[in-house]
Amino acid sequence: MGRVKIGMDISMKGQETIVEKLERERVLSRSDYITLLQNRDEALAKELSGRAVNLREQYYGKDVYIRGLIEFTNYCKNDCFYCGIRASNSKVRRYRLSSEEILACCKRGYALGFRTFVLQGGEDPYFGEDEISRLVEAIKREHPDCAVTLSVGEHPRAVYRRWFEAGADRYLLRHETADDAHYRMLHPVSCSPENRKRCLWDLKEIGYQVGCGFMVGSPRQTEEYLAEDLLFLHKLQPEMVGIGPFIPQYDTPFGGEPAGSIGLTLFLLGIIRIMLPDVLLPATTALNTLDSRGMEKGMLAGANVCMPNLTPDRVRGQYALYEGKDGVKGGDAGGRGAVWESEARIAGGDAEECTPVPGGEVRAESVRKESAATGQREALGALRRRMEAIGYRVVTDRGDCKRKKTDPI
Ligand code: SAM
Repeated sequence: MGRVKIGMDISMKGQETIVEKLERERVLSRSDYITLLQNRDEALAKELSGRAVNLREQYYGKDVYIRGLIEFTNYCKNDCFYCGIRASNSKVRRYRLSSEEILACCKRGYALGFRTFVLQGGEDPYFGEDEISRLVEAIKREHPDCAVTLSVGEHPRAVYRRWFEAGADRYLLRHETADDAHYRMLHPVSCSPENRKRCLWDLKEIGYQVGCGFMVGSPRQTEEYLAEDLLFLHKLQPEMVGIGPFIPQYDTPFGGEPAGSIGLTLFLLGIIRIMLPDVLLPATTALNTLDSRGMEKGMLAGANVCMPNLTPDRVRGQYALYEGKDGVKGGDAGGRGAVWESEARIAGGDAEECTPVPGGEVRAESVRKESAATGQREALGALRRRMEAIGYRVVTDRGDCKRKKTDPI
């Protein structure tokens, strides 16, 4: 089908396709979004990704920005029906990283070329206003040339402001779904769509670079709901958008639901790039979990960011949001290929497997650190090669959004 013509409203323009209209106006009506989604086929996907990649290259060239993801706690007070670390999942072994461990992750990441660190976690009351402020300040003190991104859920505006003043640059908070009824299907009554959106508007107003987003193929999602999501993106004008396929986690109420589609995720990446040409758009871990070439496919659909995992091996498997989460087996989520490759090279290098010797604990700790560093270096090397193979290059850069700052709303 490919060239989907659109309604009467632009008939004067003759042969304009819906994708051309999207590129010209940066937004479509609700019904045009639905038409676009309903007519998804190979030709249309190609038209979309071609335009998306052109725009991505206009703003960001061939550069791929990397973010060092540190999943520092899997405690969570919320009970989202889709999430593996939800409060009532008693099968999860819970962990928290100490400040020293978090700073060590940053130090290792810095040496590898990371200039953004993302602190992500469940909503863990243990990490309150003061603890997060102290962490942000410590990271900024040690790495003043780096950006710090927080992704720790919903908080009062004053708390967000305090963290911003402590030095946090960016905040990721997926809106999950812009439709209130759909939001309530995915969350218990203690979570409200109004509060989620309030947080995003507060973060924007405070001055963060803000990221929202949603899962593709979340249970009960429809094309109408996706159209709402796209309209919400246009309204919020976020600097970052995180989307990835929903993947079931068996110990959650949605454990028996089907996973989201790779094709639809890529299609939506293209739409989002065209709507927000300067947006920071990751090819997510979930995408790379469902498809071993997910990172490449995401880039070739319009993405320009990836988020390798710097979480220590010791706890990585416990941040199990969904089944088979890529990167949980060691090394670094430079991608599944990268992870397996690095594992093979560091075989036997895990400290837990060392034979005890006098002074062994200290030795084991240093072996553990060394092998983590080696694994992450090799995995990042593999990611670089994967990107080079498709004509892109991983860069050492904070990777800020190239949008000009507008006055606060
Ligand atoms: N607590 C923070 C928050 O609420 O934003 C950050 C952590 S939360 C686990 C990060 C994201 O993981 C969520 O926004 C959600 O979209 C995604 N996620 C959770 N469960 C998932 C699943 N089963 N499949 C795919 N993505 C999932």
